[in-house]
Amino acid sequence: MRVAVVGAGPSGIYAAEHLASQYQVEVDVFDTLPVPFGLVRYGVAPDHFSIRSVRDKLAQTFENPLVRFRGNVTIGRDLTAQDLHDHYDAVVYTYGASLDRELGIPGEDHPMSIAATAFVRWYTGHPDAADFGDQLSRATEVCVVGLGNVAIDVTRILIKPASELMQTDIPQHVLDSLARSSVKKVHVVGRRGPANATFTTKELKELGEIPGVDVIVNAKDIPSDREFASGGSKIVARNLDVMSEWATRKVSNEKSIEFHFFSAPDALDLDRGILRVKEMEIDENGRLSPTGSVNELQSDLVVRSIGYRGEGLYGLPFDHVSNVIPNSEGSITGLESSYVAGWIKRGPSGIIGTNKKDAVSCVNLLVQEHKGGQKSSAGNIDQLLADRGVRFIDFQGWNRIDAREKELGASRGRERTSIHEREELIRIGLGA
Ligand code: NAP
Repeated sequence: MRVAVVGAGPSGIYAAEHLASQYQVEVDVFDTLPVPFGLVRYGVAPDHFSIRSVRDKLAQTFENPLVRFRGNVTIGRDLTAQDLHDHYDAVVYTYGASLDRELGIPGEDHPMSIAATAFVRWYTGHPDAADFGDQLSRATEVCVVGLGNVAIDVTRILIKPASELMQTDIPQHVLDSLARSSVKKVHVVGRRGPANATFTTKELKELGEIPGVDVIVNAKDIPSDREFASGGSKIVARNLDVMSEWATRKVSNEKSIEFHFFSAPDALDLDRGILRVKEMEIDENGRLSPTGSVNELQSDLVVRSIGYRGEGLYGLPFDHVSNVIPNSEGSITGLESSYVAGWIKRGPSGIIGTNKKDAVSCVNLLVQEHKGGQKSSAGNIDQLLADRGVRFIDFQGWNRIDAREKELGASRGRERTSIHEREELIRIGLGA
């Protein structure tokens, strides 16, 4: 059996690993980017060393001769879904959710209003990222909208002294821009309260450990009965403990992070440096409604961190309401021998480990449903790519990029420096 996997992020690599090691299946893993690892490289913050090190474990999968990496190949452009179905016995789609979501309020299209997805792409060195160095040199106060882990990552990268990021693999031009940044204050803006936030305690606590930065929480926002407010969730209870301790701290530094709970963005007036928010309240059933009060927050730049969104792929069904590929337990609805795992299956939630479970159960189903025999039309996919003039990067190509990034880092006293230009990655990957 030969299987194609679309997307070389954690879900795709976990699926390939299980197919090859458990069932001795040949797997080709395609990615639109010249490098593998998906969100482990282009989502996890550069200063989260232990989560980023998952990359080493994922890389081992490609050392199995049954598994091949085919980077710089866009499915839907270089190869169609039909091409894959003609060449493989089954296809597993794991291409994630890379689009941003919008607030749908006036002023959102201002150049000083950006999506966290784009900002994360920039600081991780994604080849398609816009450059936000200019915005950071013009902003003193930034509003980050959202109370999830991405909002926490963005806040930390915005306010952390650049010197603290020296030992990360952050691209050099990003590190230089962060060193020149004029940001002194980050407002974290959430429409609900501290007990409703989706960030986790380890990530939250890191904000209180940044040298030279105060964290400001208004004591009146912390519920008086913290145990009741946590509703039995240990994470919420721990988050409330952390924030209630912050509410007692004195402010002494020039830089700060301030939380604004029960504040729903209403309009952006960024020519005047203002984010207008509506004050909200929550009833005992968790329903959110405006109190009628409106506040203005100083904001030169707004980063909306309100979640990721998946997109459809030509030739596959797509649910435009939940932005996922419709499926039953990972088997794509109405399409034979087609499976889905990860964020494009269930939406953008969970930790990296969640994708392992997801990928393993998807692969078990694929093998169980496989009717036997090999595709008679299975031909040489590399030949087809060559005929179409597609320069694909294999795993040896990634090893060359990996070595070059380490060399580049060493030349600047750093362990590694990520290369962010697509053509440069392709050139190195091809050994040119
Ligand atoms: P998220 O956890 O779903 O958070 C999205 C936030 O946006 C929520 O606070 C949500 O508030 C808010 N929001 C949505 N629509 C809004 C609107 N119209 N107005 C105001 N606020 C709005 O998503 P995420 O932060 O993008 O993270 C995605 C996944 O990656 C999560 O599973 C996360 O844990 C994971 N992740 C993990 C790490 C880590 O472990 N270190 C790092 C980054 C990401 P409501 O709750 O009110 O809807």
